[in-house]
Amino acid sequence: MKELTNNKKQFFEIAQKLVNFNKISHAYLIEIGDYDQDIPYVLDFIKMILCPNKKFSFNSNCSECNICELIQSGNYPDLMIVEPDGQWIKKNQLLALQSEYQNKSLLGNKRIYIIKNADRFNASSANTILKFLEEPEDDIIAILLTTNRYHVIETILSRCQILTLANTEDVDFEIDDNLFQLMKFIVQKDQLFICYNEIVENILPDKGVAKEKFSQVSSILLSYLDFLSGKVDFFDEQLLSILSNLDMDKILDIVALIEEEVRKLEYNVNYKLWLDALFAKLIGGGCND
Ligand SMILES: [Zn+2]
Repeated sequence: MKELTNNKKQFFEIAQKLVNFNKISHAYLIEIGDYDQDIPYVLDFIKMILCPNKKFSFNSNCSECNICELIQSGNYPDLMIVEPDGQWIKKNQLLALQSEYQNKSLLGNKRIYIIKNADRFNASSANTILKFLEEPEDDIIAILLTTNRYHVIETILSRCQILTLANTEDVDFEIDDNLFQLMKFIVQKDQLFICYNEIVENILPDKGVAKEKFSQVSSILLSYLDFLSGKVDFFDEQLLSILSNLDMDKILDIVALIEEEVRKLEYNVNYKLWLDALFAKLIGGGCND
C-alpha cells in the first residue's frame, strides 16, 4: 500500500468515521489538489458508502462484492460524473442528471453524482444545483470537487459538508525583511503611497521582483487561511501579529486582486503605472474598508 501523506490519511480517517457512525450527509464539497491524483481517494470514499462489507484500505476493493469493482472500473451505474461543458457546468447537464436519477436505483442503493470543478457554475446552473442541494433526495448524494474552495459560490459551499484532500499551502521560501515589510504595507494600506518611493526602491524595484514578492504574499495569505480554518496548527508569530486584523473575506479579496493584477504583468504593461493601479486598488478595497 502506498504511504499516505497526512492530509490523505486524515481524509481517509474522517471518511471512515462518517461511514461507520452512519453520518453520511447528502452533499459534500471535497477540496482536491489534482483531479487525477485525488480521484482514487474520492472513489474510495464512495466505495465506503456503497459497499456492504465495509472493509477498506486505500485504493483497493473489498474483493467480496462487485460494487467496489464496478466503482473502481468506472462502470457503476448509479455513479455519474458531471464536468464543465466548455467553460461552465451548464444547467441542461444538471437537468439531464436529474432526469437520469428520477427513478429509484435498480440496485436499491444510494446514487451518487460527482461534479468536477464545482467552482465553475454560471448563474443558471448555480441556481439549479442550489435547488438540488436545498431539496435533497434521501438516496442521492452529491460530491462536489474543487481545487479551491474559496472560488466556490458561498451559498453552494454553505450547503455542503467540506472535506479536504488538498495539500495545505506551503510557505517554502524565506520570509525576509523586505517581504515582511511589504506584507505590513499591504495590511496597513494607508502607508502604501506615503512610502511609495521607499517601497519601489527597496522592495519592488522591477517587474520580476514584484511578481515574485506578490506571489509570496498570496502564498502567505492562503496559508494563513489554512491556519484560520484549522487545516494547519502553526503559523509564524510575527506574521500573525500583522495579519490578525484581517478576516477571511478581506484576505480573499486581497488574494484575488493580487492574482488578477499579477497576471497583467505577462503583458507589456508599464511597471510604474501597473504598481500605481495595484496600490490604488489595495487601498480602495481589501484591507480596512
Ligand atoms: Zn465492496
